[in-house]
Amino acid sequence: MRKFFVLAMWLFLASAANALELDGEFTQGSLIRGKAPSQTQIWLNDKALKVSQQGYFAFGFGRDAKLQHELKWVDVDGKTQVKDIVLHKRDYQVQRIEGLPPKMVTPPEEVLARIKQDNRQVAQARKMDDDRIDFMQSFIWPSDGPISGVYGSQRVLNGQPKRPHFGVDVAAPVGTPVYAPADGVVTLWVPDMYYSGGTMIIDHGHSISSTFLHLHAGHVKVGDRVKQGQLVAEIGATGRVTGAHLDWRMNWGSERIDPELLVPPRN
Ligand SMILES: [Zn+2]
Repeated sequence: MRKFFVLAMWLFLASAANALELDGEFTQGSLIRGKAPSQTQIWLNDKALKVSQQGYFAFGFGRDAKLQHELKWVDVDGKTQVKDIVLHKRDYQVQRIEGLPPKMVTPPEEVLARIKQDNRQVAQARKMDDDRIDFMQSFIWPSDGPISGVYGSQRVLNGQPKRPHFGVDVAAPVGTPVYAPADGVVTLWVPDMYYSGGTMIIDHGHSISSTFLHLHAGHVKVGDRVKQGQLVAEIGATGRVTGAHLDWRMNWGSERIDPELLVPPRN
């Protein structure tokens, strides 16, 4: 699946003096990280991007992002530069399952309020838009174990398309350590959400975050500053799951991006 993509690359746009460097795979689900001369203003499709004092910035594309985008910036000479970005379209796995009992397809009425509350808490935690640039680090896998689920895949149950799967699943026994994939700040830890069980969010700056689902235990608390490689949690089988695994998701704001594109290939 990964061989489909070209390797991560640095792209140098414009002339050397005004260079804007972009790192990432130009594909749906990708996080693109970049460096510009300091004080550069940058827009993606006319939305102003957050640019750090040193000129670091990032932007992400969701699962079904359109393929044509426009990056615009004002260079050091005050000239507006425009660059088209064309994304590679991805194919996602679709699995159709028929004949399931209806209660497996729709959650029971009495838990709907709880699910809403869970979603509100998660959305709130992902709202942080901090100046830290932890996201510029080379991300590492948070856990050892084989990949048992990939970003973008979707199940159609009794003809009803379910929400696509937005994380990468790592299958490993309950208690397997989970490490911070990059530096960050813990913005959420709830041990018992309805779908996702033990749920932790680590913010990497500029509204880029990692979310870990189905955790058995958390070893840090909200507000903690964590370092890459630090033990933060343990893999579990909490929430609605069929077995122990870590579901690692990543966001750029509300855009859901594919964590697997940021770490070395693994089978
Ligand atoms: Zn999963």
